[in-house]
Amino acid sequence: MIGVGIGVDIGGSQIKLAAVDRKGQVYYRESISTLARGSNPEGIIATIVTSTQRFLSNLPASLSVDGFGFCVPCYAQGEDWVLGNVTNLPLLEGYPIRPALAEAFGSQISCTYDTNAAGLAEFSWGSGMGFDRVLFMGIGTGISASFFIQSAGMVSFTFNTIGDTGHIIVDPDSNVECLCGGHGCLEAVAAAPAIRRHAMEAANNGGSAYLRSIIERNGDISARDVSEAARSGDQAAIAILKQTGRYLGIALTSYLHIFLPNLIVLGGGVSQAGDLLLDPVKHTVETMASPWFMKQLSGIVPSRFGQDAGAMGCACMVYYPEVINKSSLHQ
Ligand SMILES: [Zn+2]
Repeated sequence: MIGVGIGVDIGGSQIKLAAVDRKGQVYYRESISTLARGSNPEGIIATIVTSTQRFLSNLPASLSVDGFGFCVPCYAQGEDWVLGNVTNLPLLEGYPIRPALAEAFGSQISCTYDTNAAGLAEFSWGSGMGFDRVLFMGIGTGISASFFIQSAGMVSFTFNTIGDTGHIIVDPDSNVECLCGGHGCLEAVAAAPAIRRHAMEAANNGGSAYLRSIIERNGDISARDVSEAARSGDQAAIAILKQTGRYLGIALTSYLHIFLPNLIVLGGGVSQAGDLLLDPVKHTVETMASPWFMKQLSGIVPSRFGQDAGAMGCACMVYYPEVINKSSLHQ
């Protein structure tokens, strides 16, 4: 039998599950897009429980389960994992999720913020493996970061995170209101909804017939569509990714000066745009950062595990809980 940890990445619209051994080998995975069906907290938790139970029943017989890890797109506070600041699953705001999960899967379960889990997978098994100080940034519908040090594990101080890092100010002149209520936040100008907004503007003001044709065909446009348009050579899409990369680079320059990482790993759906995004990120950091800090930085690299990183990191907590818990100043 092969022992595996079960990782469950609970997102706003889907649950990603992975069965992973202690070395980071994935033996089985599933994505389930059912979460939006719940109309009350109990219904959503029941969906998570039944989806996980179905996943377990589908596992190959050669695997045995060593434990469970969960991650959520928000804060999980206290012994009962009371969810807070839940923008993707507002029905779960203030709801304790641990009791129902413990009843279904036993007491050997753990839970963290999704960016912590994705960063943990990259730090332990992925792009950050072997580096002393790793900053992970997840760029998707929202933006957030986690930070790991070999000697101290995951660094956390604000509700088990390094703060609401997507809301660092990168455009003080922006008149776009962020979901947090602020103005000029990184997330408001560089996450997937901002890329979509910029693409809509380019299509509507005649900046790109290509982007306009996508909207006419699909009725909408996604950050992924913009990436594909950029790869096809559409200049407006290339410019959107360049500006997005610049904003990300401004934020990462500040993080570089605060955390002094040896490596920065970029994950999340938007990061899959590739070099058309990564190159302006690197150029901005190289141009803006203190040379002394730049010397400590080996590189800015894409995540190894992409969209699987969250579920893999959850499984990683089963085997290496001390990495998450070692240096927490505040749970
Ligand atoms: Zn904000």
